[in-house]
Amino acid sequence: MAEFCSQCSPQQSVDVINLYEIAIKLKEGQSESFYCSGCNNRTLFKDESGNIYLGKIIDGVGHLQPVKLDDLKPQ
Ligand SMILES: [Zn+2]
Repeated sequence: MAEFCSQCSPQQSVDVINLYEIAIKLKEGQSESFYCSGCNNRTLFKDESGNIYLGKIIDGVGHLQPVKLDDLKPQ
C-alpha cells in the first residue's frame, strides 16, 4: 500500500508517515529512513546538537535540508 508522508499526504485517512512523530522520537546522531510515494522525502536525521534535517532524493542524489520541529507538525 502506498504511504505518504505528513508533508504531502492527500488525505488524513490513508497511511501517513508522521514526520513530526519520527522527529521527536529520534535521538541525537540517529536517522530514520522511510519511503514516501508522494514526494522526495526519504530520511529524517538529528545531529549531535539536536538539529533536525530532512533528507530528500532529488534526481537520484540525496540532499539534507535543515528543518524545524514546528515545520513538521501536521497542518
Ligand atoms: Zn511526502
